[in-house]
Amino acid sequence: MMQQYLALKAGHPHTLLFYRMGDFYELFYEDAEKAARLLDITLTQRGQSAGKPVVMAGVPFHSVDTYLARLIKLGESVAICEQVGDVATAKGPVERQVVRVVTPGTLTDAELLSDKSESLLMAVHAGARTGCGLAWLSLTQGIVFLAQCASDELADWVARLAPGELLYSAETTPAFEQRVMALAGAPTPQGGKLVTVLRPAWAFDAALGQRKLLEQLQAASLAAWGAEDLGDAHAAAGALLAYAEHTQGRALAHVRSLQVARIDERIDLPPSTRRNLELVQTLRGESSPTLFSLLDTCASGMGSRALRQWLLEPRRDRAEARERLGAIGVLRAGPWQRLRERLKGCSDVERITARIALRQAKPRELVGLGQTLGRAGELASALAPLGTDALLARLATHLQPPAGCAELLQRALLSDPSALVRDGGVIADGFDAELDELRGLQQNSDAFLIELEARERARTGIANLRVQFNKVHGFYIEVTQGQLDRVPDDYKRRQTLKNAERFITPELKAFEDKALSAQERALAREKWLYEGLLDSLQAFIDPLTTLARALAALDALCALTERSLTLNWCAPSFGSEPGIEIRGGRHPVVEARLAETGAGAFIANDTVLGPKARMQVITGPNMGGKSTYMRQVAVIALLASMGSHVPAQSCRLGPIDAIHTRIGAADDLANAQSTFMVEMTEAAQILHTATPNSLVLMDEIGRGTSTFDGLALAGGIAAHLHDKARCFTLFATHYFELTEFPATHHAAVNVHVSAAEGGSKGIVFLHQIEPGPASRSYGIQVARLAGVPAPVVQHARHALAALEAHSAEQQTQVDLFAPPPAAEAPEPHPLVAALAAIDPDTLSPRDALDQLYQLKKLA
Ligand code: ADP
Repeated sequence: MMQQYLALKAGHPHTLLFYRMGDFYELFYEDAEKAARLLDITLTQRGQSAGKPVVMAGVPFHSVDTYLARLIKLGESVAICEQVGDVATAKGPVERQVVRVVTPGTLTDAELLSDKSESLLMAVHAGARTGCGLAWLSLTQGIVFLAQCASDELADWVARLAPGELLYSAETTPAFEQRVMALAGAPTPQGGKLVTVLRPAWAFDAALGQRKLLEQLQAASLAAWGAEDLGDAHAAAGALLAYAEHTQGRALAHVRSLQVARIDERIDLPPSTRRNLELVQTLRGESSPTLFSLLDTCASGMGSRALRQWLLEPRRDRAEARERLGAIGVLRAGPWQRLRERLKGCSDVERITARIALRQAKPRELVGLGQTLGRAGELASALAPLGTDALLARLATHLQPPAGCAELLQRALLSDPSALVRDGGVIADGFDAELDELRGLQQNSDAFLIELEARERARTGIANLRVQFNKVHGFYIEVTQGQLDRVPDDYKRRQTLKNAERFITPELKAFEDKALSAQERALAREKWLYEGLLDSLQAFIDPLTTLARALAALDALCALTERSLTLNWCAPSFGSEPGIEIRGGRHPVVEARLAETGAGAFIANDTVLGPKARMQVITGPNMGGKSTYMRQVAVIALLASMGSHVPAQSCRLGPIDAIHTRIGAADDLANAQSTFMVEMTEAAQILHTATPNSLVLMDEIGRGTSTFDGLALAGGIAAHLHDKARCFTLFATHYFELTEFPATHHAAVNVHVSAAEGGSKGIVFLHQIEPGPASRSYGIQVARLAGVPAPVVQHARHALAALEAHSAEQQTQVDLFAPPPAAEAPEPHPLVAALAAIDPDTLSPRDALDQLYQLKKLA
């Protein structure tokens, strides 16, 4: 047996091997030690193999899911090795095989997955030049995505997609390898951490990858997807698909769609924007309260996942958003409540379909699928009268269950089957004549036993003689001590108890053989029939995938409809002229919190940004509502772009290509970057990428350094955003000096959050955005409000008065926003230009040395 184990283990050297032995999965040697440490299970020793004691640890098979879930969260992978041979007929150890490998990026099990987010597998291939190819896949969705990006954009892509596993080639440049390794450990929406996985270099072959994609799509060319010229991505896809197949132990029949992710099709929401706007995670890393947690009233996991994707990947062109808004308009007026009633309790068709394709679907999942198909039919009928809307009409067509599928499931399966096929009690009566007959044999046995008991009592005259069965001894006739002398000769003793003896007769023995074998045969038959059922279901994979997507989309649309009515939102409109015009806008999450805590009403605010006012310089006291106001504009723009109603009285949006944010002071302790460094890095990215169609939020830029430094930088950044990037900017600042900016910059305006002095607290925040600069800074009042002791406040007031008087005397005119004289921006040194032209990722060590000599010459 150890030989068999070691041979299997050799095929999975870096993976924990769960080796099935009866009712346990056993781990051996280092695997056992590792699992004992990670799972806190007992390590034992048994026997010897090759002169060494065998160290082992085991987990019971019926609770294996709990252990798997814990290991996957810790970033481990597990190869599941089952007994596939027949225990009864095997000579030596029964045959075993690794049937699948459970890894963080390839999960499909409902027990191991959060139902609100996907688990992604991703592969990256460094190209010959500076770029790299990406391919990723959610096994439950069955879609392969391809993309090309620059090497230095890789981290952004990974942060955005948050895969569970990232595959990369064993032969890549050290620089690239370092890039990939630096990504390990990033959090995933599943609550785990990103694992990087080395794969052999030959797996990353562009030609092979292209062939695999064509096979998967059953197509002759990738042209229809616009995916022909993505060689590096093809290489990544090759490795990706091979790995996914390897883990599932079979071909991926349901992976039939391809999408090329082009960054310029989506509204760019960099990781900092997702974080700062608290889209799916709060700044503290919790999943609520966030914009998504507020939006997500979906009835099913599929719906939640679709909605999450809509929110995080809105498209620049508005066709999709317009369609959704149209559908929401119809649903609002129509029967959305009844639709939602029917959506409740629908099974996760998307995941079940994937599991059918992977032949892992369990009986109860299939029963759930059958019932859900019935509901899908009802939903399709309910949608049909609303057919004036193109999207709803399309959903109605896609929701038509494939002919014969529900009937097959209903005919084949008991309505409340056992959890596992191996326990029997799964296939319905009347589905298979042979199974019925075998089951009949078992049922008829009760009648036979009663009849036999009566017959034997009459024959022997033993009135209390009993015919019984137990699992250990099988069938027997029990006779008490006092009656033993009446036992006939053909009774053979089976067992002696204290007060009774148990016997068997030839007739009973013959019956026992038949009954036990009927039971075994029935179980085997059920297993075979179930496999056959999975075979037949393969034909429905495509329509089921379509149906699942329609169900998810309808669920998400109904949730958005419900939200828009409950939270009193309005439909946005889109225009082709650049601009953002919001009347009565609110921040939905802050508003919900205020309503929950009874802290008062949310004050709605207007925002008008257009060619004449591209930048608002926002001043006012801390706690006045500046951040909330800026975020609400971004959140409303985002909601509109995904096709949702928005928390406002009215909203009109021009084109938007990105939402950038520089907010707050998140210290990146893990990477030992100072607050100020983070602040400037984020600002630099925005300055490089913002376009006239971008929305940029800048909150308190420059706060992280000394006053003059900070003020000078803030002024420079504002000028660049206004003059060069020409984006729409909300610029909140505590530098009062910046209120001068609009005087010299025609497309900038001052606004402030209002506050009134007075009241018992010294200051009252009105949270209203008003034109013009704040009349003064309220720092000292806010400090008092926060409980800073009275003498300190007194001291500060006095000092402030002195400072103000002093600066009034010394006033010299400094133009903060004037561009530097031309002479101050010298030509870069030739050495700098030469350095910029070098791409370390593509250099061989030899070239690197040459370059170094060249550079020395320039110095
Ligand atoms: P600032 O950025 O000016 O320091 P915030 O935007 O963080 O201020 O707002 C502080 C608090 O004021 C928020 O947590 C919220 O409770 C409240 N607030 C902000 N804006 C509004 C508003 N428009 N209506 C009601 N309350 C608001």
